[in-house]
Amino acid sequence: MKSLPERTDVLVVGAGPAGATTSLFLEQKGIDHLVIDQSEFPRDKICGDALSGKVIDVLARLDPRLVNEMEALTGEFLSCYGITFVAPNGTDLSIPFRTKVADRLTAAGFISPRLDFDAFLVSKIHPERLRTSCKLISLSKPGAIASAPGTGSIASAPGAGPASTTAGEHQVTVEYQGEQRTIRARYVVGCEGERSLVAKEWAGYVKDKNHYCAALRAYYTGVTGCHADNYIELHFLKDILPGYLWIFPMSNGRFNVGIGMASHRIAQRKVNLKAAFEKAIREIPALRERFAQAQPLTPLQGWGLPLGSKRFPLSGEGFLLVGDSGSLIDPFTGEGIGNAMKAGYHAAEHLALSLQNGRRDAAWMRSYDQRVYRDLGGELQIGKTLQKLTNYPRLFDFVVGKAARNRELRNLISSMFDDISLRNRLRNPFFYLRLLLSRD
Ligand SMILES: Cc1cc2nc3c(=O)[nH]c(=O)nc-3n(C[C@H](O)[C@H](O)[C@H](O)COP(=O)(O)OP(=O)(O)OC[C@H]3O[C@@H](n4cnc5c(N)ncnc54)[C@H](O)[C@@H]3O)c2cc1C
Repeated sequence: MKSLPERTDVLVVGAGPAGATTSLFLEQKGIDHLVIDQSEFPRDKICGDALSGKVIDVLARLDPRLVNEMEALTGEFLSCYGITFVAPNGTDLSIPFRTKVADRLTAAGFISPRLDFDAFLVSKIHPERLRTSCKLISLSKPGAIASAPGTGSIASAPGAGPASTTAGEHQVTVEYQGEQRTIRARYVVGCEGERSLVAKEWAGYVKDKNHYCAALRAYYTGVTGCHADNYIELHFLKDILPGYLWIFPMSNGRFNVGIGMASHRIAQRKVNLKAAFEKAIREIPALRERFAQAQPLTPLQGWGLPLGSKRFPLSGEGFLLVGDSGSLIDPFTGEGIGNAMKAGYHAAEHLALSLQNGRRDAAWMRSYDQRVYRDLGGELQIGKTLQKLTNYPRLFDFVVGKAARNRELRNLISSMFDDISLRNRLRNPFFYLRLLLSRD
């Protein structure tokens, strides 16, 4: 068992996509840091397991060889070349991803069990920087942070003994090797996912049902009728709007299947998601046929999605939030892995500057929020608009129906996977007016 350092410049809590990516970029910059995770890897995370082009872009930014290495693990990673939307009235629209694959010679997306993908990322963390089975259990109160050498008074954690303090450092208590231990860190990065203690204790995060989604996932075999190019499928069923049932093909003849819905609607309509899923695959003719021979490999298991339809604070004195800890999931698609990894990149960039200029005050740390929202804010806003569109099933049916008949519109939507400026058109009411007036 590795010993636990008593101090580090940057403590990264959580080694999911957010924490692992933050660590890999910090490593590139030669920044002293420590990553802790309560789990041992490989470990599962309930998820749709779909990795978008954004994931590939971040990996390529780290090192293009990582993308090739990931692709070579064909037993675990399945290339995916498009997406099928099924509107509430059953009309389907299949769109190939038109990303810059030609010059990259790689698929635009992948499906990989998180068991494998997260372990792949974690295997790239410098082993000296990583402590697994190491759980964050409490944080120093923001007011207890030492402010000048020798004058600080960090309250000791129970059983941790007196701590020597240094100017402007946090003190956190972790459980490691059956003992409570203390780590001091100039900066803490909260990457613990949707149940983040850092977000709750330091950023005052409180779950908001209007910006939250609940979802269930199961692995299956024997689902039939999938696209030959491994398209992922989103079925917007009228009983679960805003939300969808998904079918994502995987390697080795398995399927990641699940259902998710906005939490405020679940509460309003008292929806039982498990029952809604079972009813859909039993009663909707197109699904019933495709699930006729299907066998579940796991039970339906639930987890929450903190959505980026509201901007939550991502920082404060000497700390940052990355990934689900910062509620950065796309409200329409549910994509959170790519956003977590992008935010990890920004966190490392911000921390490099912070260590250079010695600043950790809340006003300075807010420039991280600005970075992240400059990069992801536009997309999250579009996701919010599209999520609202699903509140109007007829309009949604109409857009999907029109696109299914109109090649130009299909090409436009296909390009939207690449080009955020094109996606902005979806926020413009004139887009829908022109659609209404256009010929099929
Ligand atoms: C049902 C479902 C389907 C989804 N489908 C998709 C999809 O297909 N594609 C997509 O892009 N996104 C999807 N998402 C969202 C995606 O799962 C998350 O956005 C993503 O996991 C965020 O990564 P993260 O690193 O922020 O958090 P996580 O992946 O949750 O990682 C957090 C890590 O922190 C560790 N940790 C937690 N608490 C502590 C602690 N106290 N001390 C130490 N370590 C701790 C955990 O062990 C874990 O390893 C889905 C989510 C759900 C719920």
